[in-house]
Amino acid sequence: MPLNPIRVLADPLSVRAIAVFLVVVGALSALGFARHEQRAREQGQLAAIASDLAGRRIGVHCPGFLSSLVDTHGEAGRVRFDAAGRPADHTDLSPQTCKALRHLGHVDFTCIDRGDCGFTQFDAAWAAHTLAHEAFHLRGFQDEGVTECYALQNTAFVAERLGVPALQAAKLQAWIYVRGYPNEPEEYHSARCYSGGPLDLRPNVTKFP
Ligand SMILES: [Zn+2]
Repeated sequence: MPLNPIRVLADPLSVRAIAVFLVVVGALSALGFARHEQRAREQGQLAAIASDLAGRRIGVHCPGFLSSLVDTHGEAGRVRFDAAGRPADHTDLSPQTCKALRHLGHVDFTCIDRGDCGFTQFDAAWAAHTLAHEAFHLRGFQDEGVTECYALQNTAFVAERLGVPALQAAKLQAWIYVRGYPNEPEEYHSARCYSGGPLDLRPNVTKFP
């Protein structure tokens, strides 16, 4: 008589162990897939915003769970340029920048008016500014001072696209200019970055940035 395969596997303990194992593996891969899908969607949204500023189709990379554990370069974002001064077609953002951008639309920036914002709000606003900065590198500007000047004028654009109401986004941009820009290293400052100056994207408007 041939062996009944069901009877061979019938040790209830091993059947249960296999069942538990399969459920765990299934749950983990479903979770991994969901995370992967979410990251792809977020990167796509950020890429669409940055592409508008870069004037061409570019990519935005947010590190996955494992690479975010080994991330050590410490920059908020970066764009590589080749020896001829041509930018890559994507930017790499730090895990912190990606996280802040993910939650940007839920941050309450009414604290700017009250003057009692904390690190959370500044971190979020700076992330919007970082995406604008990297987008202008991708547009072809390698000079940090020029790139930064254009980014300062487009931080509200990024914030608004990520769900910050227009008025708050405008205040956020002005806030970064007053509170963040002066603390940046010298190379991020350009003598040509002022209201009505050569880097002013809206020279007919008195407000700057
Ligand atoms: Zn830069």
